[in-house]
Amino acid sequence: MADKGNSPMRRKERKEKEFTEMTEEMKKEGQRTVDNGELSSGEAVNNGAVAISQNGDFQVEPTELPPFEIITGDRIDPFVFKFQFKNVEYSSGRNKTFLCYLVDKGNTADGLLRGYLEDEHTGSHAEEVFFIQCLPHYDPTLKYTVTWYVSSSPCSACAAKIAEVLKARKNVKLSIFAARLFEWEEVEIQAGLKALHAAGCKLRVMKPLDFSYTWDTFVENEEQPLNLWEDCKENYEYYHEKLSDILQ
Ligand SMILES: [Zn+2]
Repeated sequence: MADKGNSPMRRKERKEKEFTEMTEEMKKEGQRTVDNGELSSGEAVNNGAVAISQNGDFQVEPTELPPFEIITGDRIDPFVFKFQFKNVEYSSGRNKTFLCYLVDKGNTADGLLRGYLEDEHTGSHAEEVFFIQCLPHYDPTLKYTVTWYVSSSPCSACAAKIAEVLKARKNVKLSIFAARLFEWEEVEIQAGLKALHAAGCKLRVMKPLDFSYTWDTFVENEEQPLNLWEDCKENYEYYHEKLSDILQ
């Protein structure tokens, strides 16, 4: 197996590269949004929700973004999407989960339910909130087809909760497409993903085409196509291989 960049040196380099890219993107975006007059630069930075501590790590800026907050919405800001869904190997600064959802209840007048949730890892997680806010009334006579596009795969607690829901509600079919695998090296995380898989959840890593689809469906894209970042496919293959290893 070739070096996948896991040596401490490579990790550090990647982290630094990622950091530089992100701050440049944020600077550019801050400039752009101010020019448009749509957002103040403060708001644009707030969407990124990062600050840099003395040791160079990213941290949530608590005064700007309070914890225990769940944000729901129709379409995601394009800059926020490009940052939060980027399938980088190390997710520095991306300390929240974005969950885009589609719900099809079969033959009902409700049509297709579409929207997104975002959380902070310090509060209730988006995965849990979905079942409370987006699917509060469960009708056992309906067939639910639920699709999530998430910025990162569930933590072990959420995976266990989702697995419980799927076991109790046999006519809910859930597919989860994740941009990144959250702490996939951890044994509990791997156990959570296996439990989800065993409970009938379809788990996949987002392919380049899935990013374009999510962009078209859930982002304020102003009719512009998504320009995929250069290592999107390579990163997908990396995570896809990890997930296959975990679930086999
Ligand atoms: Zn969670």
